[in-house]
Amino acid sequence: AEELEGRTAEMVARRRETAGASSVLFYQEPIEMVRARGVFMFDADGNRYLDVYNNVPSVGHCHPHVVEAIVRQSERLSIHTRYLNETVQAYAERLLATLPPSISQLVMTCTGSESNDLALRLAEATTGARGVIVTETAYHGNTALTTEVSPSSLKGGSIPSHIRTLPLPAERAGDGPGDLAERFAASVRAAIVSLKADGHGLAGMIVDSIFSSDGVFADPPGFLKPAVEAVQAAGGVFIADEVQPGFGRTGTALWGFARHGVTPDIVTFGKPMGNGYPMGGVATRPGLLDRFCDSVGYFNTFGGNTVAAAAGQAVLDVIEREGLLANAEAVGAHLRGGLRELAGRHPEIGAVRGAGLFVGLDVVGRDSGAPDPEGAIRAINGLRRRHVLVGAAGPFGHTLKIRPPLCFERQHVDLFVETLDAVLTGDVRA
Ligand code: PMP
Repeated sequence: AEELEGRTAEMVARRRETAGASSVLFYQEPIEMVRARGVFMFDADGNRYLDVYNNVPSVGHCHPHVVEAIVRQSERLSIHTRYLNETVQAYAERLLATLPPSISQLVMTCTGSESNDLALRLAEATTGARGVIVTETAYHGNTALTTEVSPSSLKGGSIPSHIRTLPLPAERAGDGPGDLAERFAASVRAAIVSLKADGHGLAGMIVDSIFSSDGVFADPPGFLKPAVEAVQAAGGVFIADEVQPGFGRTGTALWGFARHGVTPDIVTFGKPMGNGYPMGGVATRPGLLDRFCDSVGYFNTFGGNTVAAAAGQAVLDVIEREGLLANAEAVGAHLRGGLRELAGRHPEIGAVRGAGLFVGLDVVGRDSGAPDPEGAIRAINGLRRRHVLVGAAGPFGHTLKIRPPLCFERQHVDLFVETLDAVLTGDVRA
Protein backbone atom coordinates (compact mmCIF):
# COMPACT_ATOMS: atom_id res chain seq x y z
CA ALA A 1 0.00 0.00 0.00
CA GLU A 2 1.10 3.53 -0.69
CA GLU A 3 2.16 5.70 2.22
CA LEU A 4 -0.66 7.89 3.42
CA GLU A 5 0.08 11.57 3.52
CA GLY A 6 -1.07 14.80 5.07
CA ARG A 7 -4.51 15.05 6.58
CA THR A 8 -5.53 11.44 5.74
CA ALA A 9 -2.50 10.07 7.59
CA GLU A 10 -3.28 12.29 10.56
CA MET A 11 -6.97 11.30 10.64
CA VAL A 12 -6.12 7.59 10.41
CA ALA A 13 -3.66 7.94 13.29
CA ARG A 14 -6.24 9.80 15.42
CA ARG A 15 -8.85 7.12 14.66
CA ARG A 16 -6.42 4.33 15.66
CA GLU A 17 -5.70 6.22 18.86
CA THR A 18 -9.35 6.33 19.93
CA ALA A 19 -10.84 3.18 18.34
CA GLY A 20 -7.82 0.89 18.75
CA ALA A 21 -8.11 -2.51 17.11
CA SER A 22 -11.85 -1.99 16.54
CA SER A 23 -11.18 0.62 13.83
CA VAL A 24 -12.48 -0.65 10.49
CA LEU A 25 -11.89 1.57 7.46
CA PHE A 26 -12.49 1.13 3.76
CA TYR A 27 -9.72 1.31 1.14
CA GLN A 28 -5.93 1.48 1.11
CA GLU A 29 -6.43 5.23 1.14
CA PRO A 30 -9.35 5.86 3.53
CA ILE A 31 -11.68 8.74 2.68
CA GLU A 32 -12.76 11.62 4.91
CA MET A 33 -16.41 12.08 3.94
CA VAL A 34 -18.13 15.34 4.73
CA ARG A 35 -21.46 15.38 2.89
CA ALA A 36 -23.66 13.48 0.45
CA ARG A 37 -26.72 13.89 -1.74
CA GLY A 38 -28.66 11.40 -3.84
CA VAL A 39 -26.22 8.85 -5.30
CA PHE A 40 -23.09 10.94 -4.61
CA MET A 41 -20.83 11.53 -1.61
CA PHE A 42 -18.22 14.29 -1.22
CA ASP A 43 -14.89 14.20 0.60
CA ALA A 44 -13.09 16.92 2.54
CA ASP A 45 -11.37 18.14 -0.65
CA GLY A 46 -14.68 18.44 -2.49
CA ASN A 47 -14.16 15.31 -4.65
CA ARG A 48 -17.40 13.62 -5.71
CA TYR A 49 -17.80 9.83 -5.33
CA LEU A 50 -20.43 7.61 -6.95
CA ASP A 51 -21.87 5.52 -4.10
CA VAL A 52 -22.18 1.93 -5.27
CA TYR A 53 -21.67 0.57 -1.74
CA ASN A 54 -24.59 2.34 -0.07
CA ASN A 55 -26.97 -0.03 1.82
CA VAL A 56 -28.07 2.42 4.53
CA PRO A 57 -29.35 5.65 2.89
CA SER A 58 -30.97 3.51 0.20
CA VAL A 59 -33.62 5.98 -0.98
CA GLY A 60 -30.77 8.42 -1.66
CA HIS A 61 -28.36 10.28 0.60
CA CYS A 62 -29.94 13.01 2.71
CA HIS A 63 -33.25 12.67 0.88
CA PRO A 64 -35.04 15.98 1.57
CA HIS A 65 -38.34 14.31 2.49
CA VAL A 66 -36.65 12.08 5.09
CA VAL A 67 -34.49 14.92 6.43
CA GLU A 68 -37.53 17.15 6.80
CA ALA A 69 -39.50 14.43 8.63
CA ILE A 70 -36.62 13.91 11.07
CA VAL A 71 -36.16 17.63 11.67
CA ARG A 72 -39.88 18.30 12.16
CA GLN A 73 -40.32 15.43 14.61
CA SER A 74 -37.12 16.37 16.48
CA GLU A 75 -38.58 19.84 17.02
CA ARG A 76 -41.88 18.46 18.33
CA LEU A 77 -41.09 15.40 20.48
CA SER A 78 -38.02 13.16 20.75
CA ILE A 79 -38.29 10.80 23.69
CA HIS A 80 -38.14 7.16 24.85
CA THR A 81 -40.84 4.65 24.03
CA ARG A 82 -43.09 4.47 27.07
CA TYR A 83 -45.81 6.84 25.86
CA LEU A 84 -48.62 6.48 23.37
CA ASN A 85 -47.90 8.37 20.17
CA GLU A 86 -49.80 8.47 16.89
CA THR A 87 -46.70 8.76 14.65
CA VAL A 88 -45.19 5.66 16.24
CA GLN A 89 -48.43 3.68 16.14
CA ALA A 90 -49.22 4.63 12.55
CA TYR A 91 -45.75 3.57 11.42
CA ALA A 92 -46.06 0.15 13.08
CA GLU A 93 -49.42 -0.40 11.40
CA ARG A 94 -48.15 0.74 8.01
CA LEU A 95 -45.05 -1.47 8.14
CA LEU A 96 -47.04 -4.52 9.24
CA ALA A 97 -49.50 -3.95 6.38
CA THR A 98 -46.62 -4.62 3.93
CA LEU A 99 -46.02 -8.10 5.42
CA PRO A 100 -47.97 -11.38 5.10
CA PRO A 101 -51.19 -11.28 7.22
CA SER A 102 -49.81 -13.93 9.60
CA ILE A 103 -47.02 -11.52 10.62
CA SER A 104 -49.02 -9.07 12.69
CA GLN A 105 -46.86 -7.95 15.63
CA LEU A 106 -43.83 -5.67 15.68
CA VAL A 107 -41.09 -4.84 18.16
CA MET A 108 -38.95 -1.86 17.22
CA THR A 109 -35.22 -1.79 17.90
CA CYS A 110 -32.27 0.40 16.86
CA THR A 111 -30.07 -2.01 14.87
CA GLY A 112 -30.11 -5.18 12.81
CA SER A 113 -28.06 -6.95 15.48
CA GLU A 114 -30.58 -6.20 18.21
CA SER A 115 -33.35 -7.38 15.91
CA ASN A 116 -31.68 -10.71 15.11
CA ASP A 117 -30.70 -11.16 18.75
CA LEU A 118 -34.34 -10.89 19.79
CA ALA A 119 -35.43 -13.09 16.87
CA LEU A 120 -33.05 -15.87 17.99
CA ARG A 121 -34.32 -15.59 21.55
CA LEU A 122 -37.92 -15.79 20.32
CA ALA A 123 -37.04 -18.90 18.29
CA GLU A 124 -35.48 -20.55 21.31
CA ALA A 125 -38.39 -19.61 23.60
CA THR A 126 -40.89 -20.94 21.06
CA THR A 127 -39.20 -24.26 20.36
CA GLY A 128 -37.34 -24.93 23.60
CA ALA A 129 -34.37 -25.81 21.39
CA ARG A 130 -31.06 -24.09 20.63
CA GLY A 131 -29.98 -25.44 17.27
CA VAL A 132 -29.76 -22.83 14.52
CA ILE A 133 -29.02 -23.24 10.80
CA VAL A 134 -27.18 -20.50 8.85
CA THR A 135 -25.17 -20.19 5.64
CA GLU A 136 -21.44 -20.71 5.86
CA THR A 137 -20.37 -17.09 5.26
CA ALA A 138 -23.36 -15.40 6.91
CA TYR A 139 -23.29 -12.22 8.95
CA HIS A 140 -26.22 -11.49 11.25
CA GLY A 141 -24.87 -9.11 13.87
CA ASN A 142 -22.43 -8.12 16.59
CA THR A 143 -24.07 -9.27 19.85
CA ALA A 144 -22.94 -12.45 21.64
CA LEU A 145 -25.89 -14.42 20.27
CA THR A 146 -25.77 -13.05 16.71
CA THR A 147 -21.99 -13.54 16.51
CA GLU A 148 -22.66 -17.25 17.04
CA VAL A 149 -24.69 -17.26 13.80
CA SER A 150 -22.16 -15.10 11.92
CA PRO A 151 -19.46 -17.47 10.63
CA SER A 152 -18.04 -14.60 8.53
CA SER A 153 -17.02 -12.83 11.78
CA LEU A 154 -14.96 -15.74 13.07
CA LYS A 155 -11.23 -15.27 12.64
CA GLY A 156 -9.98 -18.79 13.21
CA GLY A 157 -12.50 -19.38 16.03
CA SER A 158 -14.74 -22.41 15.85
CA ILE A 159 -18.45 -22.44 15.12
CA PRO A 160 -20.45 -23.28 18.28
CA SER A 161 -21.69 -26.88 18.50
CA HIS A 162 -25.39 -25.92 18.25
CA ILE A 163 -24.92 -24.07 14.95
CA ARG A 164 -24.99 -25.84 11.56
CA THR A 165 -23.75 -24.11 8.42
CA LEU A 166 -25.00 -24.60 4.87
CA PRO A 167 -22.93 -24.45 1.69
CA LEU A 168 -23.58 -21.42 -0.51
CA PRO A 169 -26.61 -21.73 -2.79
CA ALA A 170 -24.56 -21.44 -5.98
CA GLU A 171 -25.94 -22.59 -9.31
CA ARG A 172 -23.82 -25.27 -11.00
CA ALA A 173 -23.25 -25.90 -14.68
CA GLY A 174 -25.82 -28.41 -15.88
CA ASP A 175 -28.36 -27.65 -13.12
CA GLY A 176 -31.91 -28.35 -14.24
CA PRO A 177 -34.92 -26.48 -12.86
CA GLY A 178 -35.27 -27.20 -9.17
CA ASP A 179 -31.81 -28.75 -8.73
CA LEU A 180 -30.37 -25.90 -6.67
CA ALA A 181 -33.52 -25.69 -4.52
CA GLU A 182 -33.37 -29.42 -3.86
CA ARG A 183 -29.62 -29.36 -3.10
CA PHE A 184 -30.11 -26.50 -0.64
CA ALA A 185 -33.11 -28.20 1.01
CA ALA A 186 -31.15 -31.46 1.30
CA SER A 187 -28.39 -29.61 3.19
CA VAL A 188 -31.03 -28.14 5.51
CA ARG A 189 -32.60 -31.55 6.14
CA ALA A 190 -29.16 -33.00 6.94
CA ALA A 191 -28.50 -30.13 9.36
CA ILE A 192 -31.82 -30.76 11.12
CA VAL A 193 -31.02 -34.48 11.53
CA SER A 194 -27.57 -33.64 12.87
CA LEU A 195 -28.85 -31.02 15.37
CA LYS A 196 -31.47 -33.45 16.67
CA ALA A 197 -28.97 -36.32 16.86
CA ASP A 198 -26.61 -34.16 18.91
CA GLY A 199 -29.39 -33.24 21.35
CA HIS A 200 -29.56 -29.54 20.43
CA GLY A 201 -32.93 -29.77 18.70
CA LEU A 202 -34.05 -27.26 16.10
CA ALA A 203 -34.81 -23.65 17.06
CA GLY A 204 -34.79 -22.52 13.45
CA MET A 205 -32.96 -21.15 10.44
CA ILE A 206 -31.90 -17.55 9.86
CA VAL A 207 -31.21 -16.48 6.27
CA ASP A 208 -30.50 -13.24 4.43
CA SER A 209 -32.42 -14.03 1.26
CA ILE A 210 -30.02 -12.09 -1.00
CA PHE A 211 -27.03 -13.83 0.68
CA SER A 212 -25.11 -10.57 0.89
CA SER A 213 -22.04 -11.64 2.84
CA ASP A 214 -22.06 -15.06 1.15
CA GLY A 215 -21.44 -13.35 -2.21
CA VAL A 216 -24.99 -12.53 -3.48
CA PHE A 217 -27.11 -15.50 -4.61
CA ALA A 218 -30.48 -14.54 -6.05
CA ASP A 219 -31.49 -17.12 -8.62
CA PRO A 220 -33.60 -18.94 -9.41
CA PRO A 221 -36.34 -17.09 -7.49
CA GLY A 222 -38.08 -19.53 -5.16
CA PHE A 223 -35.04 -21.72 -4.50
CA LEU A 224 -35.38 -21.12 -0.75
CA LYS A 225 -38.89 -22.51 -0.55
CA PRO A 226 -38.22 -26.24 -0.01
CA ALA A 227 -35.53 -25.40 2.59
CA VAL A 228 -37.89 -23.13 4.54
CA GLU A 229 -40.65 -25.75 4.35
CA ALA A 230 -38.25 -28.37 5.73
CA VAL A 231 -37.45 -26.14 8.72
CA GLN A 232 -41.08 -25.33 9.45
CA ALA A 233 -42.19 -28.98 9.02
CA ALA A 234 -39.55 -30.01 11.58
CA GLY A 235 -40.99 -27.54 14.11
CA GLY A 236 -38.35 -24.84 13.60
CA VAL A 237 -38.82 -21.11 13.13
CA PHE A 238 -37.76 -19.42 9.88
CA ILE A 239 -36.22 -16.00 10.44
CA ALA A 240 -35.97 -13.82 7.32
CA ASP A 241 -33.16 -11.32 7.91
CA GLU A 242 -34.25 -8.37 5.75
CA VAL A 243 -31.41 -6.07 6.81
CA GLN A 244 -29.84 -6.35 3.32
CA PRO A 245 -32.64 -7.31 0.88
CA GLY A 246 -35.42 -5.36 2.59
CA PHE A 247 -37.11 -2.09 1.66
CA GLY A 248 -37.09 -2.71 -2.07
CA ARG A 249 -33.46 -3.59 -2.72
CA THR A 250 -34.27 -6.69 -4.81
CA GLY A 251 -36.73 -4.84 -7.04
CA THR A 252 -39.79 -7.02 -7.45
CA ALA A 253 -41.07 -6.73 -3.89
CA LEU A 254 -40.45 -4.74 -0.74
CA TRP A 255 -39.10 -7.89 0.97
CA GLY A 256 -36.45 -10.35 -0.16
CA PHE A 257 -38.32 -13.39 1.18
CA ALA A 258 -41.27 -12.60 -1.12
CA ARG A 259 -39.07 -13.38 -4.15
CA HIS A 260 -38.84 -16.91 -2.79
CA GLY A 261 -42.55 -17.34 -2.14
CA VAL A 262 -42.04 -18.21 1.52
CA THR A 263 -43.80 -17.03 4.67
CA PRO A 264 -41.39 -16.42 7.54
CA ASP A 265 -42.25 -16.83 11.21
CA ILE A 266 -40.07 -13.83 12.06
CA VAL A 267 -38.82 -10.97 9.88
CA THR A 268 -36.00 -8.68 11.00
CA PHE A 269 -35.17 -5.19 9.72
CA GLY A 270 -32.29 -2.74 9.94
CA LYS A 271 -30.00 -0.57 7.83
CA PRO A 272 -32.23 1.08 5.17
CA MET A 273 -35.28 1.33 7.44
CA GLY A 274 -34.53 4.94 8.48
CA ASN A 275 -32.25 5.90 5.53
CA GLY A 276 -29.46 6.60 8.03
CA TYR A 277 -31.49 7.22 11.16
CA PRO A 278 -30.59 4.15 13.28
CA MET A 279 -33.61 1.90 13.49
CA GLY A 280 -34.50 -1.77 13.27
CA GLY A 281 -37.37 -4.09 14.03
CA VAL A 282 -38.66 -7.61 14.56
CA ALA A 283 -42.03 -8.60 13.10
CA THR A 284 -43.61 -11.91 14.01
CA ARG A 285 -46.76 -13.92 14.24
CA PRO A 286 -48.85 -13.67 17.42
CA GLY A 287 -47.89 -16.06 20.18
CA LEU A 288 -44.12 -15.88 19.92
CA LEU A 289 -43.85 -12.65 21.86
CA ASP A 290 -46.35 -13.84 24.49
CA ARG A 291 -44.28 -16.90 25.27
CA PHE A 292 -41.02 -14.93 25.43
CA CYS A 293 -42.41 -12.03 27.46
CA ASP A 294 -43.93 -14.43 30.02
CA SER A 295 -40.44 -15.30 31.12
CA VAL A 296 -38.20 -12.33 30.23
CA GLY A 297 -39.91 -9.30 28.77
CA TYR A 298 -38.46 -6.82 26.33
CA PHE A 299 -37.89 -3.10 26.54
CA ASN A 300 -35.90 -0.88 24.19
CA THR A 301 -35.42 2.76 25.23
CA PHE A 302 -34.87 4.14 21.72
CA GLY A 303 -36.42 1.39 19.59
CA GLY A 304 -39.21 2.93 17.55
CA ASN A 305 -38.97 6.34 19.15
CA THR A 306 -40.94 9.22 17.67
CA VAL A 307 -38.13 10.47 15.42
CA ALA A 308 -37.36 6.95 14.18
CA ALA A 309 -41.02 6.45 13.32
CA ALA A 310 -41.11 9.73 11.41
CA ALA A 311 -37.97 8.72 9.49
CA GLY A 312 -39.44 5.29 8.78
CA GLN A 313 -42.68 6.77 7.49
CA ALA A 314 -40.78 9.11 5.20
CA VAL A 315 -38.70 6.22 3.79
CA LEU A 316 -41.87 4.30 2.89
CA ASP A 317 -43.32 7.49 1.36
CA VAL A 318 -40.28 7.91 -0.89
CA ILE A 319 -40.23 4.24 -1.97
CA GLU A 320 -43.88 4.57 -3.02
CA ARG A 321 -43.88 8.08 -4.49
CA GLU A 322 -40.70 7.65 -6.50
CA GLY A 323 -41.51 4.13 -7.70
CA LEU A 324 -38.23 2.81 -6.33
CA LEU A 325 -39.17 -0.88 -6.64
CA ALA A 326 -39.76 -0.52 -10.37
CA ASN A 327 -36.61 1.61 -10.65
CA ALA A 328 -34.51 -1.01 -8.84
CA GLU A 329 -35.89 -3.66 -11.17
CA ALA A 330 -35.30 -1.73 -14.42
CA VAL A 331 -31.99 -0.07 -13.56
CA GLY A 332 -30.78 -3.32 -11.97
CA ALA A 333 -31.44 -5.18 -15.24
CA HIS A 334 -29.51 -2.47 -17.13
CA LEU A 335 -26.66 -2.84 -14.63
CA ARG A 336 -26.44 -6.62 -14.94
CA GLY A 337 -26.64 -6.31 -18.72
CA GLY A 338 -23.77 -3.79 -18.77
CA LEU A 339 -21.62 -5.94 -16.50
CA ARG A 340 -22.26 -9.11 -18.53
CA GLU A 341 -21.28 -7.23 -21.67
CA LEU A 342 -18.09 -6.14 -19.89
CA ALA A 343 -17.45 -9.76 -18.87
CA GLY A 344 -17.29 -10.62 -22.58
CA ARG A 345 -14.23 -8.35 -22.89
CA HIS A 346 -12.62 -8.96 -19.50
CA PRO A 347 -11.88 -12.60 -18.63
CA GLU A 348 -11.21 -11.55 -15.04
CA ILE A 349 -14.96 -11.13 -14.60
CA GLY A 350 -16.55 -14.46 -13.67
CA ALA A 351 -20.21 -14.78 -12.76
CA VAL A 352 -22.51 -11.75 -12.49
CA ARG A 353 -25.45 -12.47 -10.16
CA GLY A 354 -28.17 -10.52 -8.44
CA ALA A 355 -31.65 -9.11 -8.20
CA GLY A 356 -32.83 -5.52 -8.40
CA LEU A 357 -30.04 -3.20 -7.32
CA PHE A 358 -27.97 -5.85 -5.56
CA VAL A 359 -25.35 -7.45 -7.77
CA GLY A 360 -22.41 -9.73 -7.05
CA LEU A 361 -19.56 -9.87 -9.57
CA ASP A 362 -16.84 -12.51 -9.16
CA VAL A 363 -13.26 -11.47 -9.89
CA VAL A 364 -11.37 -14.53 -11.16
CA GLY A 365 -7.98 -15.45 -12.59
CA ARG A 366 -7.82 -14.70 -16.33
CA ASP A 367 -6.65 -18.18 -17.22
CA SER A 368 -7.63 -20.27 -14.20
CA GLY A 369 -11.11 -18.84 -13.62
CA ALA A 370 -10.36 -19.39 -9.90
CA PRO A 371 -11.42 -16.85 -7.25
CA ASP A 372 -8.98 -13.92 -7.22
CA PRO A 373 -9.35 -11.98 -3.94
CA GLU A 374 -6.23 -9.89 -4.68
CA GLY A 375 -7.72 -8.92 -8.04
CA ALA A 376 -10.92 -7.92 -6.23
CA ILE A 377 -8.92 -5.76 -3.83
CA ARG A 378 -7.10 -4.12 -6.77
CA ALA A 379 -10.45 -3.49 -8.46
CA ILE A 380 -12.00 -1.96 -5.34
CA ASN A 381 -9.04 0.34 -4.73
CA GLY A 382 -8.80 1.19 -8.42
CA LEU A 383 -12.46 2.18 -8.43
CA ARG A 384 -11.92 4.21 -5.28
CA ARG A 385 -9.05 6.12 -6.95
CA ARG A 386 -11.49 6.90 -9.75
CA HIS A 387 -14.10 7.98 -7.17
CA VAL A 388 -16.46 5.01 -7.31
CA LEU A 389 -17.24 3.13 -4.09
CA VAL A 390 -17.87 -0.63 -3.91
CA GLY A 391 -17.14 -3.40 -1.39
CA ALA A 392 -16.32 -7.13 -1.43
CA ALA A 393 -18.08 -10.24 -0.13
CA GLY A 394 -18.03 -14.01 -0.28
CA PRO A 395 -15.99 -16.77 1.33
CA PHE A 396 -12.83 -15.75 -0.57
CA GLY A 397 -13.61 -12.01 -0.71
CA HIS A 398 -13.45 -12.13 -4.52
CA THR A 399 -17.04 -10.98 -5.15
CA LEU A 400 -17.60 -7.28 -5.77
CA LYS A 401 -20.69 -6.19 -3.85
CA ILE A 402 -22.46 -3.77 -6.18
CA ARG A 403 -25.34 -2.17 -4.31
CA PRO A 404 -26.11 1.46 -5.21
CA PRO A 405 -28.95 3.61 -3.83
CA LEU A 406 -32.40 2.64 -5.16
CA CYS A 407 -32.66 6.00 -6.96
CA PHE A 408 -29.72 5.02 -9.21
CA GLU A 409 -30.31 5.97 -12.86
CA ARG A 410 -29.11 4.50 -16.15
CA GLN A 411 -26.54 7.28 -16.53
CA HIS A 412 -25.06 6.26 -13.15
CA VAL A 413 -24.92 2.63 -14.27
CA ASP A 414 -23.09 3.72 -17.41
CA LEU A 415 -20.61 5.77 -15.38
CA PHE A 416 -20.02 2.78 -13.11
CA VAL A 417 -19.56 0.29 -15.96
CA GLU A 418 -17.20 2.64 -17.85
CA THR A 419 -15.12 3.17 -14.73
CA LEU A 420 -14.94 -0.56 -13.99
CA ASP A 421 -13.89 -1.12 -17.61
CA ALA A 422 -11.03 1.36 -17.18
CA VAL A 423 -10.00 -0.14 -13.84
CA LEU A 424 -9.96 -3.70 -15.19
CA THR A 425 -7.91 -2.59 -18.17
CA GLY A 426 -5.48 -0.44 -16.20
CA ASP A 427 -5.19 -1.64 -12.61
CA VAL A 428 -6.28 -5.22 -12.27
CA ARG A 429 -4.04 -6.58 -15.02
CA ALA A 430 -1.09 -4.54 -13.77
N1 PMP B 1 -27.95 -8.81 9.26
C1 PMP B 1 -27.35 -8.58 8.08
C2 PMP B 1 -27.71 -9.43 6.90
C3 PMP B 1 -26.38 -7.58 7.98
O1 PMP B 1 -25.78 -7.35 6.81
C4 PMP B 1 -26.06 -6.80 9.13
C5 PMP B 1 -25.04 -5.67 9.07
N2 PMP B 1 -24.07 -5.77 8.12
C6 PMP B 1 -26.72 -7.08 10.33
C7 PMP B 1 -27.67 -8.07 10.35
C8 PMP B 1 -26.43 -6.30 11.58
O2 PMP B 1 -26.96 -5.03 11.52
P1 PMP B 1 -26.37 -3.86 12.44
O3 PMP B 1 -24.98 -3.60 12.00
O4 PMP B 1 -27.31 -2.72 12.22
O5 PMP B 1 -26.44 -4.33 13.85
